Amino acid sequence: MTDCKTETKGLVPSPLAAKALREKAVYGQPLEVADGISVILADNAKDYTGPGTNTYLVGNDRLWIIDPGPADAVHLQAVLDAVDGRVVEGILVTHNHLDHSPAATPLSEQLDAPVYGYGGLPEEVLHSSDEDIDPDFVPHRALMGGEKIGTGRWHLQVLHTPGHFPNHLCYWLPEMGIVFTGDHVMGWSTTVIVPPLGNLADYMDSLDLIASTSAVRLMPSHGDPVDNAQSRINEIRDHRMMRQGQVEECLHQGKTDPASIVAELYEGLTPRLLKAAEGCVQAHIDMYHARRAQAERFELTASNSLHR
Ligand SMILES: [Zn+2]
Repeated sequence: MTDCKTETKGLVPSPLAAKALREKAVYGQPLEVADGISVILADNAKDYTGPGTNTYLVGNDRLWIIDPGPADAVHLQAVLDAVDGRVVEGILVTHNHLDHSPAATPLSEQLDAPVYGYGGLPEEVLHSSDEDIDPDFVPHRALMGGEKIGTGRWHLQVLHTPGHFPNHLCYWLPEMGIVFTGDHVMGWSTTVIVPPLGNLADYMDSLDLIASTSAVRLMPSHGDPVDNAQSRINEIRDHRMMRQGQVEECLHQGKTDPASIVAELYEGLTPRLLKAAEGCVQAHIDMYHARRAQAERFELTASNSLHR
């Protein structure tokens, strides 16, 4: 399969790319990325977080905090210093992975600000996966897709974007043409989608939802802001569908085991990324079966109505 060696720069998590980002990263200092929007980078770099988690401060006199980050005392203090006594309207969480939500509670207590998010997940869901989940996350105010929060220039619209994680939210700031994309769209790499909590079909639908805004910039929770919003979304969509085609080709050749498909498609993969790659391949296999089942249901319905 020669097409497996397609150029994937910026599309597959790469320890080398993550290392390069860490080397130029500035931790703990607020950096203005747009008028009234600054980012504070947490020092929690891992293979999938690029240089670390971005915590955004949005607004001037009254702030929204987006993705408070990990429970790290140094990061917490850096965020408090950047807030510098201003009123915090709310702390918005994209999802409760351990690198995004744990600082919400201590920040909420110190700033007297409510925490907003889609909500926690049922116990049985939490225990169905060995992902790095924050099990204690419960927002003060549960949000739903389509809701609007804030006022004036700083009003945000909530986009429910499952795919990477079931309770993932993005926040759309229409006045500035910006979507805060959490882990759904990152600038430095594609996101990890591992079943059972990750779902590729949902991911693609959520990507379409983000594209349906008129976003010109994306502010991810890992990596630099993305200035070419729509072309980055298209690039990610094309990459996912290219990979879907490759996985389906393997299935048609009788390879059904994720490990053997990874060996075929991910040549030269760093061993520690193997498990996640197998999870991503499983997500592609699941989407293949889901689409086949849907097509069969459609054919059955069509033939039933023909014979009526
Ligand atoms: Zn995540």
